[in-house]
Amino acid sequence: MDNFKLSHEDAKYIVAHINRIYGQCNQCKFDSLNKEYVKCPKCGALNFNWKTDNGTEI
Ligand SMILES: [Zn+2]
Repeated sequence: MDNFKLSHEDAKYIVAHINRIYGQCNQCKFDSLNKEYVKCPKCGALNFNWKTDNGTEI
């Protein structure tokens, strides 16, 4: 954790915006997000669109 030099608040902010399903907006379920950091074109929510399907990195 310390290697990333993130404050606790930054980490919480980022985690709150990470997509649970790759390519899908956290907020409205729009499912065609195709960049790593993208604002949802439908609802405007910020999404960290990371591939986390193996579930071990975060
Ligand atoms: Zn959305």
